[in-house]
Amino acid sequence: MDEFELIRRFFDRAPPSGLELGIGDDAALLRAGRNAAGEAESLVVTTDMLIAGRHFVSAVEPESLGHKALAVNLSDLAAMGARPEAFTLALALPEVNEDWLEVFARGMFALADRHGCELAGGDTTRGPLTISITALGRVPSGSALRRDHAEPGDDLWVSGALGAAAWATRERLAGRDATLSAAARRRLDWPEPRIGLGLALRHLARAAIDLSDGLAGDLGHICERSRVGAQLNWAEIPVAGELAALPESERIELALAGGDDYELLFSAVPENRSALTALGTRGSVALTRIGAIVPGTGVTVLDGRGRTVSVARAGFNHFA
Ligand code: ADP
Ligand code: MG
Repeated sequence: MDEFELIRRFFDRAPPSGLELGIGDDAALLRAGRNAAGEAESLVVTTDMLIAGRHFVSAVEPESLGHKALAVNLSDLAAMGARPEAFTLALALPEVNEDWLEVFARGMFALADRHGCELAGGDTTRGPLTISITALGRVPSGSALRRDHAEPGDDLWVSGALGAAAWATRERLAGRDATLSAAARRRLDWPEPRIGLGLALRHLARAAIDLSDGLAGDLGHICERSRVGAQLNWAEIPVAGELAALPESERIELALAGGDDYELLFSAVPENRSALTALGTRGSVALTRIGAIVPGTGVTVLDGRGRTVSVARAGFNHFA
């Protein structure tokens, strides 16, 4: 039983659900009444957990760990087009190390403050180092970017460049951490949640997901939820510069199936091409059109001559 089958079988219960959107997207949506301006809003809720030895090596700088534990949650809010508001922090620590805690908190609060997101509570226990954050945000009702809104004919777009974090993980696990460039280390340890982009996409994108488990697998989630297929053009995919010298098979593997990119993948109607191109040019992160939503099921990747590119590993799955 893989990770997603497990969730479906034991936790994803049949309706009736009082939720606006339950299990199966980057975050859940709860009806939240009206804001001060009288607009209906949804509360957006997501949880992500980081465990030492599984999601990071224990030697990683605590400042980046504080940043990343919150960043991966804010990335899920960004994928919904939500504005972050607050978060809770559940922490298991093997021991109290004051220096470690001070630096961890500094990394976490620096990111929180940049997005006006307040720590609202949590829980602290002794145990193997585990950081679990629940992030809360808001979005105007009906404007959330959901995985299930893609339609055949939509363009597929991605922010940034892919594969650098997966490559840096590989180098680190091979004992070559010291030779990583500052840029590669930043891609892995200091991912930037695309909050501003998510807000800008509320009226430009149809479906969206953040890339945590690899482009091919995460696009597969959009396809399943939207009951559509997708076609990617390998030649258009923005591959991180760090991968330039690698053989093509490895570049394909890292850019299509490597995780930890925390970029946004989204679908949009072709009428929005020029608006999205302009947004990519003036915004803080590049936007690239990499394929299209098609009728059918599954993700196909084509090379420059229209032949199918095979991807060995379709995204990260904890129990695959
Ligand atoms: P993401 O990578 O965007 O954080 P995941 O792949 O971790 O999403 O999870 C897929 C979906 O399953 C999400 O909607 C998530 O909330 C839900 N989910 C994961 N684990 C559980 C669980 N133990 N109980 C209920 N829902 C879960
Ligand atoms: Mg996500």
